Amino acid sequence: MDKNQARGESTTGISEWKQRPPYRVHENMEGFDVKYEANCHCGKVTYQLSRKEPLDSKLCHCTTCQTQHAAPFQWAAIFHKEDINFTNGHHDLEWYDPTEKSTEHKLPCKVRCSFCHSPIMDEGRNMILLFPSLIHLKTDEHKALFKPRCHMFYGQRVMDIPDGLPKWSGLSDDSDLIEDSPPEKVKEFERKREEERNKRFEKGENE
Ligand SMILES: [Zn+2]
Ligand SMILES: [Zn+2]
Repeated sequence: MDKNQARGESTTGISEWKQRPPYRVHENMEGFDVKYEANCHCGKVTYQLSRKEPLDSKLCHCTTCQTQHAAPFQWAAIFHKEDINFTNGHHDLEWYDPTEKSTEHKLPCKVRCSFCHSPIMDEGRNMILLFPSLIHLKTDEHKALFKPRCHMFYGQRVMDIPDGLPKWSGLSDDSDLIEDSPPEKVKEFERKREEERNKRFEKGENE
C-alpha cells in the first residue's frame, strides 16, 4: 500500500482498504438501514449507522486515551465494522497506531478527520469503537442505549466516578474489579487501620 493512499490523500484507483468494512461505501440500492447520522467537528467526515443499540458502551481511563483525547477519560461505543457507512470524507481520514507510534494503517489504530482532527473511531481487528459524542442521539431512548455500562483501565484514572458501574483495573472482563468507594466504606477502612496502628503502638511494635 503506498503511503499517500494509507493517509487517504490519493483519490486515484481504489485502495484495498476502501473496499472492505468499515470503509466500504454502500451503494444506494443496497438499502443501508440508517438508524443514526454522525459527523466530525468540521463536518467533512460524515457517517451513518445501521445498528440501533451498540454492542457495548464503555469509559476508558487508560493513559493513551487520556493523551489521545486530551480528556480525563474516553467514551466509546462498540459496533461491528459492517454497521457503519461513510457518506462523506472517506478520503479525509488519517490513522495513528499508538503501539508503533506510526501513521500507517495498522490495526488496532485511531482514526481521525484529517482536517479538524476530531477522533472518529478506534479500529480494532474485529470491531470498531465509535465516539458517541459525534452521533446525533435525538431521543432519550437513544441516549439510554448509548449510556456507558462500565469503566475500564480505572486503575489509571485521574478522578473518581462514583456512579455504581462496574470498574475494571485494566481491560473489561479481563482484570480485577475495583469497587466504588462510598465515603462510609473509606471511613470504616481508615478506622480499622487506626485501631491496628494503636494496637501495634501498645505492644511497642511501632518502631
Ligand atoms: Zn473534521
Ligand atoms: Zn483507553
